[in-house]
Amino acid sequence: MANRVPDNKSRKPREVGTANFTAVPVDSALPFQTESNYRFNVLYARLVSAMTDTKIIDVDLIENILIEICHIFRLSKAVTRVYRNQQEEREGKGETLCCFDNGKEGNEIMSLRVVTSVMTTATIKAYMCPDETPLNEDEYKKVDLVMRTVLSFISRNRMKDVVYELAYFDDAGYPNLRNWNNYIEELVGEEKAAGKLAFRYNLRHFSLINQEFGRPIGDIVMKAHFEKLQSIIGESGFMVRLGGDNFVGICDSNKTKFVIDYLTEAEVNTPKGIGVNIYTSAGFFRIPKDRHVAVEEIMGCIIAAYRVAQNGGMDNIVFYDESFVENRDKTMKIQQQFSEAIEKNEFRPFYQPKVNVKTGRLVGAEALCRWFKSNRVVPPAEFIPILEKTSDICRLDLHMLECVCRDMKRWADEGKEPIRISINFSRKHIINTYLPETIAEIVDRYSVPHELIDVEFTESTSEVEFEDLKRMATRLRSMGFYLSIDDFGIGYSSLNLIKDIPWTTLKVDKSFLPDDPSDENSVISIMFKHVVSMTGQLGLECISEGVETKQHVSILKNNGCEIAQGYFFDKPLSVEEFESRIAKGKYSLPW
Ligand code: C2E
Ligand code: MG
Ligand code: MG
Repeated sequence: MANRVPDNKSRKPREVGTANFTAVPVDSALPFQTESNYRFNVLYARLVSAMTDTKIIDVDLIENILIEICHIFRLSKAVTRVYRNQQEEREGKGETLCCFDNGKEGNEIMSLRVVTSVMTTATIKAYMCPDETPLNEDEYKKVDLVMRTVLSFISRNRMKDVVYELAYFDDAGYPNLRNWNNYIEELVGEEKAAGKLAFRYNLRHFSLINQEFGRPIGDIVMKAHFEKLQSIIGESGFMVRLGGDNFVGICDSNKTKFVIDYLTEAEVNTPKGIGVNIYTSAGFFRIPKDRHVAVEEIMGCIIAAYRVAQNGGMDNIVFYDESFVENRDKTMKIQQQFSEAIEKNEFRPFYQPKVNVKTGRLVGAEALCRWFKSNRVVPPAEFIPILEKTSDICRLDLHMLECVCRDMKRWADEGKEPIRISINFSRKHIINTYLPETIAEIVDRYSVPHELIDVEFTESTSEVEFEDLKRMATRLRSMGFYLSIDDFGIGYSSLNLIKDIPWTTLKVDKSFLPDDPSDENSVISIMFKHVVSMTGQLGLECISEGVETKQHVSILKNNGCEIAQGYFFDKPLSVEEFESRIAKGKYSLPW
């Protein structure tokens, strides 16, 4: 039996606390030991047992045993501290773990220190009142043994903490994706996810906050934003950072309104008390109650909703909808088919005439893309927005330009009257500084005069885009191309857009065209009248889009807008039909 009793001499500190150590049951202690020896052995065995329990670490139990041990050895105080690094130790910061203090003043009688393999430090110190009987040699060894055991236990647990932190938290201390997966797996596994609200969001334009206040303050603002939302969703929810300014979270559905309000707009203070507004793009998914939802499905749905929120123009908060999957499949299909379709020449221009409403003369046309796919003609609404998600749209626009130039060269060769054609260019091109040269190269290859090509751009949204657009437009004008501002009035138009960019033409969107010529005082009528008049005074050509009726034509005439484009005269036409219009050169007017 003797070999089952822990032997102080043979035990090296690093062996203590390993899983191999066998704890001694109380009743198996040797009967011939002194009482204090016996008590110590029992307590020590319990201590080791508590510290090596693989299921649960009962901190209270460990502390109570240590307090009893302190009593046996007449200690007035025993303190264990841990430090994350040596600097913390030098500055005396650190964290106190176990502390026994009977309130009596004492002197330090023993001190031990370890540096763990992850460079954290732990110390333990024991104190005794001067009026107590000092420790004898045997007692000293026992106290030393307990202290080493405690240190060994702490450093092992610190390691576990550090490994846990590294695995489940990122460098800035946010819980990470692995943490999220664990949480969601548990939730789904315990069937507690039903009805909850999952979300993924991104802080919009957060780089501007970093730029304005500096990165360290940006980090603090981001953390404050995160922690506030964490407090809103409370204990029953969970949030992690995916990286950068991207986050995911889950909470009870009764928090939906608060979370949406917060993610729509929240004010966060910088450390100097300056309030900054934070906006997000967020995708939400309400986890269904009537069926089982897999962990991956939750992430898939919030990402799908988030993508729509991010690309969806004005709407920055989007709830997942079954149609997203359908849309995603459609998007992928079109993106996959695009290259082959362009090589097979399936994208071709239709031409919609532009007509002078005073004379009826055909003055130009807009080239509008049609996709001849199998036996169907696909309208642009079905593929342009998808191609605009990538740079595919740029390839399509240049392909259209090339098709138009080919037609124009043929018309010239056939001796037809020269006619100006406009081609739509996506805003995606704006970052491409070589676009004017690329356009000129294509146009010159077909010997088309530059003034017969009109480049249509829609209004720009951001300031950065505005500067790029201005540079691009100035260059195109200097090369002699015409330049139209398309769909004027429906984007974020500003007067600077007209003032600072050398447009030749302004195309008023069809939504700005009044329906009733007699209603001169409606907002639309007033706006239309002033836009047309301003365009004229600035020396720009004005075209009204969506001219469908006789009334529309008379509104244009009454307000001095000379050029119309719309179904009243013609829909976009195939090249053959358009050639017949060129041959005619004129439309008959209704009066
Ligand atoms: P957009 O450039 O504003 O072209 C005018 C659109 O209005 C055309 O639609 C045209 O068919 C339609 N429209 C013309 N007259 C009327 C009318 O009287 N009433 C109504 N309700 N609509 C009329 P479409 O051809 O479906 O093209 C839609 C949009 O797709 C275009 O708007 C343009 O933004 C884009 N798009 C078309 N082709 C291309 C292209 O090759 N490249 C790029 N980047 N975008 C293109
Ligand atoms: Mg257009
Ligand atoms: Mg338009």
